[in-house]
Amino acid sequence: MPHAHQTVPVEPRVSLRTLNTFGLPAVAANLVRIRTDADVRRIVDHPQWGRAPKFVLGGGSNVVFTHDVDALVVKVEVPGIRLVQERADAWIVEAGAGEVWHDLVTWTLDHGIAGLENLALIPGSVGASPVQNIGAYGVELKDRFESLDVVDLVTGRTVTLDAVGCNFGYRDSVFKRHLQGKAVIVRVRLRCPRPWQPVLGYLDLERKIAETGHSHPDARMVYDWVCAIRRAKLPDPKLIGNAGSFFKNPVVTPEQCRDIIGRDPEVVHYPMPDGSVKLAAGWLIDACGWKGKSIGGAGVYEKQALVLVNRGNATGGEVLTLARAIQESVYGRFGIRLEPEPVVV
Ligand SMILES: Cc1cc2nc3c(=O)[nH]c(=O)nc-3n(C[C@H](O)[C@H](O)[C@H](O)COP(=O)(O)OP(=O)(O)OC[C@H]3O[C@@H](n4cnc5c(N)ncnc54)[C@H](O)[C@@H]3O)c2cc1C
Repeated sequence: MPHAHQTVPVEPRVSLRTLNTFGLPAVAANLVRIRTDADVRRIVDHPQWGRAPKFVLGGGSNVVFTHDVDALVVKVEVPGIRLVQERADAWIVEAGAGEVWHDLVTWTLDHGIAGLENLALIPGSVGASPVQNIGAYGVELKDRFESLDVVDLVTGRTVTLDAVGCNFGYRDSVFKRHLQGKAVIVRVRLRCPRPWQPVLGYLDLERKIAETGHSHPDARMVYDWVCAIRRAKLPDPKLIGNAGSFFKNPVVTPEQCRDIIGRDPEVVHYPMPDGSVKLAAGWLIDACGWKGKSIGGAGVYEKQALVLVNRGNATGGEVLTLARAIQESVYGRFGIRLEPEPVVV
């Protein structure tokens, strides 16, 4: 009989260049693909890999690789999408962590289930969507979240977490903090509320309403609008490497905001329900003159200063050098520390 550990198909020396949307060069010393909870348990129970540090990888659209990865890369490829519950107040849809997020959004609409349309075209996997509580156009994952299953990388046990257990924040959750590298999300359940209400309070969507004259769009129309807006604004990683927004939008006190407005009346800011004020990081970076600038192969996207891009053969080190230079100049002019959104490895 073969030992359990012989069934862990670890691939040595795997290039990660095509496994991250920035197209950054890095090599995984070892990589293993998991499709089931049992696959994760086999790693946990393995005499060598069980104790090894791990890095969990989904679609690689929110990581910056600055060097080769010694940790065992656990590439999540859990498949499947299904409707698990039809309640009076909601549809509950479950998806494997390895499914492409946008495919899940499309699947729900194809099955007459609305609610995820504002989150269309966000790159990456379903399993990573709770990690930074993905959000766009007025909706965050937490607004549509029911629960998830996670396999503990120490005990091998599958545990179900609700929203409280995930501790969601703005582009943040427990998986970016003390569970980072310690647990693999294998399934996510989304709650699509019934009856459906469109979320249209975002400026770009209000413009679409004005342009088209459709003040009561259906979910498919909102999906099409979101896709069109995103395609016009953001670089397609297949054509130009990037990880989306590179910095989080900073949240400041009303006093700090008034101080900045006093010096820069144009500053783009959004009052938040809790009294704080969110500033547009892209505006701050643009105001410091960074749009279109480069350091080595890393550059600031011409159409949106919040996005750093790979102009060809950029290294993770160049991306970080550029990011630090931007942070320094924004701090120098506005006194605000920008925090990177992607995970730096
Ligand atoms: C062009 C572009 C546009 C984007 N627009 C948006 C946007 O509008 N809103 C937004 O919120 N984000 C946006 N992003 C960021 C990105 O799409 C999301 O963060 C996405 O959820 C990352 O998914 P991924 O599978 O690629 O994760 P990866 O990059 O593979 O991983 C990201 C982090 O999650 C962890 N992780 C991944 N899978 C799992 C798992 N199954 N279990 C545990 N941990 C896991 C990794 O260890 C890593 O720490 C954009 C990115 C790009 C390139």
